[in-house]
Amino acid sequence: MKQNKRAAVFPGSFDPFTLGHMDVLQSALKLFDKIYVAVGYNHLKRGFLSPQTRVRLIQDAVRPLMDNGADIEVLSYTGLTVSLCREKETDFIIRGLRTTTDFELESVIAQANREMQPETVTVFIPASHAYSFISSTVVRDVIINGGDASPFLPSNIDIKDYIQSKI
Ligand code: ADP
Repeated sequence: MKQNKRAAVFPGSFDPFTLGHMDVLQSALKLFDKIYVAVGYNHLKRGFLSPQTRVRLIQDAVRPLMDNGADIEVLSYTGLTVSLCREKETDFIIRGLRTTTDFELESVIAQANREMQPETVTVFIPASHAYSFISSTVVRDVIINGGDASPFLPSNIDIKDYIQSKI
């Protein structure tokens, strides 16, 4: 039994955080009192945005939710998500599902996590119809090719503030 029972970890690459992620986060806040949005990264893989920039973008994107009382902590981590759950004393991992392909990949990861740490439960939140086509990959492609990615991103952030050094 974990102490921080009403908290959950929402892990992802969030490279960058999109409206789809925001939608999952808002649904998760209906289920949990506190959400740790956890930017997972691998030292060996160079991302589009650095982990620190991804954290800063998410902090800015969720500020209006926090101003309305939501308890959200944004952090970066390496290593196993179940280890982060143990560190944060929560039994819950949030993941979003867009397609059956997501489900197949995610259910294997959820089972592996449960095998490693039996008390850890993955809670799947289905994508809203309006956002189900949005992915960080598409957003990156649009930005790299000079398009306007703002329809896919939280409205209160300007992606140029985070990728200045790249354009
Ligand atoms: P990862 O590399 O760990 O899959 P992502 O940043 O791509 O990280 O996604 C984090 C989580 O958000 C995943 O569970 C993913 O399925 C979910 N997700 C991504 N885009 C959407 C979306 N448009 N709607 C709902 N869930 C989404």
